[in-house]
Amino acid sequence: MNNSYQLKLKGHYFQELFRSSGLVKLDQDFLNYLKTQRPDLHTHLLFYRQNPKYANEEQISQLLIEVAQMIEAFISQLFGIEQASLNLQMQTLSHNPIFAFKAYYVMRLARRQSLKNIQMSFNELNQIFKEELSSNGLDNHDLELAISQLGQFYLQAPEKHQIKIEQLVQWCYLAMNSSEGRDFVKNWQMFKLPKPLNFKNLVPFRIVPEDPYGRYQGADLVPREGFDLTDSRMNQRQAMDEVAYCVYCHKNQGDFCSRGFPVKKNDLKQGLKINPAGDTLTGCPLEERISEMHVLKRDGFGIGALAMVMRDNPMCPVTGHRICNDCMKACIYQKQDPVNIPQTETRILTDVLDLPWGVEIYDLLTRWNPLRPEQWLIKPYNGLKVLVMGMGPSGFSLAHHLLMEGFSVVGMDGLKIEPLANLDLQQPVYSYQQLKENLSDRLITGFGGVAEYGITVRWDKNFLKLIYLSLLRRPYFQIFGCVRFGGTLEVEDAWALGFDHLALAVGAGLPKELNIPNSLAPGMRQANDFLMSLQLTGAGKATSLANLQVRWS
Ligand code: SF4
Repeated sequence: MNNSYQLKLKGHYFQELFRSSGLVKLDQDFLNYLKTQRPDLHTHLLFYRQNPKYANEEQISQLLIEVAQMIEAFISQLFGIEQASLNLQMQTLSHNPIFAFKAYYVMRLARRQSLKNIQMSFNELNQIFKEELSSNGLDNHDLELAISQLGQFYLQAPEKHQIKIEQLVQWCYLAMNSSEGRDFVKNWQMFKLPKPLNFKNLVPFRIVPEDPYGRYQGADLVPREGFDLTDSRMNQRQAMDEVAYCVYCHKNQGDFCSRGFPVKKNDLKQGLKINPAGDTLTGCPLEERISEMHVLKRDGFGIGALAMVMRDNPMCPVTGHRICNDCMKACIYQKQDPVNIPQTETRILTDVLDLPWGVEIYDLLTRWNPLRPEQWLIKPYNGLKVLVMGMGPSGFSLAHHLLMEGFSVVGMDGLKIEPLANLDLQQPVYSYQQLKENLSDRLITGFGGVAEYGITVRWDKNFLKLIYLSLLRRPYFQIFGCVRFGGTLEVEDAWALGFDHLALAVGAGLPKELNIPNSLAPGMRQANDFLMSLQLTGAGKATSLANLQVRWS
């Protein structure tokens, strides 16, 4: 692929950053930068590297947040994208007046407002505020933002604007409680309020009208044709609203999204709580620092927030929205909607990917991340060779960690693995758009196991490409497809080939027969069998001649 932009890394060559020696030099540059800018942080980071428990938990969180801010500044300079990261920061912060308006006018005042004290209709009040926007020079191109700015402006002199404040609260009340109001503010984030959780009805559904079998269907049907992505995820404003909803519980070690929700906070021996749906509230299995990530994103540090995610979760393109939600289930909000952490995490990733050289920033943070108490950079090659069988999520994550520890790794998978077509692995990628493909057109590369074969249209498989690219570029990694463990290759073959270790990561492919009568009757297909056939044959593509066999008797 032709890349017309030249990456000029400040003080480094792109290729050297794939080797331990180059990353040692980069890390030293960062430490020097930190020493100049924040000598206190430099000292504490060195203590932290010697002993990750050298201070109490709150102090460690604060250290990580402040170092993450410095990583953002350093990476922006390294890639020469200072202006672009400043723009991202301003764009991220630009939604703040809406959340401040929501907290004060909507949640605090309008919810206590009574209809009998309102003399005007929604439309009459709306007209007043449209005029107010013009007379105060507020750009009504984005009405939600403009109204929130107007509300903030009134609060600068509340006595002077007392009547207008009262009218604005009435306007909010009618926006939520009148049909014309609801129509007008449809999709406005300031009126999206958390709903009580009903564990007996977690997925909204309705009865299919006049259906002879009395079936149910989801309340919100998403029309689709073909196999293009159907879930475009939250936009930035929606995701930032979730960030604003978080109460940043790490300050009192109440960030159960990361630690798990205990039966009793002061007696951890009692174990973790089980919710009414029967799920043990483990929190994030990686103990990702979610609260600290939210603080950074709230304050506009997009790269810093991603560095915080990737401290514990370097494979974040294959987590987050549509993949996992253990964190969300264990959120401190147990009686109302929890913070949608998977959405915020994925948004943090995509905001960085959309920066110039965003793919390279992600990729660099997999190999070098000063927030990590260990594996903050790749160790030198240790001479040991590991064969990882299975290139699904567990196999490729293991491969990454082994490479960080200095092993050389060969990944093999029983199914075919295609090369990354049209991409020069040695060249830096300027724009994430260069990697993105329509899901219905993309070549099924085979890399990613269940993430490749077990999902169709609701998760963006372009994310898999980031991991694949990241591993393929490592000098001590190779990958081979069509090698079935136990058939093509057996344990003894691995030793004969010169491997020192063998890791099995082939667990997700077993067929699961449903425990219901006739589950294997002619014409029935198991879900994983159906998905594998669909993807492996390319039957989902409009241009494919392959089809899925339907049997009947
Ligand atoms: S996501 Fe929930 S549990 Fe985690 S820090 Fe935010 S409010 Fe607290």
